[in-house]
Amino acid sequence: MVMSSRILVVLALLLLGNAAGPAAAQDGDIYQALRGRMVHVQLKARGISDPKVLAAMNRVPRQRFVPERLAPLAYEDHPLPIGSGQTISQPYIVALMTEWAQLKPGDKVLEVGTGSGYQAAVLAELTDKVWTIDIRPELVVKAADTLKTLGYSRVQVKSGDGYLGWPEAAPFDAILVTAAATRVPPVLEQQLREGGRLVIPLGPEGGVQTLTRFRKAQGKIQEEKTVPVSFVPLVEPEKRK
Ligand code: SAH
Repeated sequence: MVMSSRILVVLALLLLGNAAGPAAAQDGDIYQALRGRMVHVQLKARGISDPKVLAAMNRVPRQRFVPERLAPLAYEDHPLPIGSGQTISQPYIVALMTEWAQLKPGDKVLEVGTGSGYQAAVLAELTDKVWTIDIRPELVVKAADTLKTLGYSRVQVKSGDGYLGWPEAAPFDAILVTAAATRVPPVLEQQLREGGRLVIPLGPEGGVQTLTRFRKAQGKIQEEKTVPVSFVPLVEPEKRK
């Protein structure tokens, strides 16, 4: 079996940590090192350039948002399972979606698809007005707990159908959908403020999707840019039984 160099680095860092002293005391340093490397190799090198986004990605402890046994792999260049058949996106995609949202402090942002809560935590590093919703209550309970434990207590989390947005908190300066939709949910378009950004993976279930950024201008959303991606599906009305 050929081990990738990235996995070898992870193993070496973990072994080093164990050799150097109590695991708990070393934990922070090891993950900080892995995180710094991820920011450099996966984000900066691929064109993520907003210093605030890079700083946010360098602060949020991604290992706390994945199942404990997968923590050593938290900074690897791929998505990871988080239970209920769902996944936390690859770090690069989280950073890209965050950069595309163009958040300023005080902006209101809605995330559809809380999952582990990681993307919400990254958003919370950029603005203190974050709402996040997920259709799977068991993930919401866990994510809310993780966010609170890590001090992201201002993030509003609820379980419900994000296809319908969060009417009480609308309009939003940015909406991020972190599950693939076959089309833009009309309500989300309505809940976007003029000038607001909507970032959403669009495409057929199981096929290649296109991460797309729209901006609302004169009451209508206009496509601005795209990149091919692969997300778990958004639960949409026509897919429900
Ligand atoms: N952003 C997450 C990962 C999202 S995975 C993170 O940082 O960890 C996609 C999530 O979208 C899943 O948790 C899934 O339950 C949720 N989802 C799917 N359909 C949904 C819908 N209609 N409304 C809200 N959430 C939905």
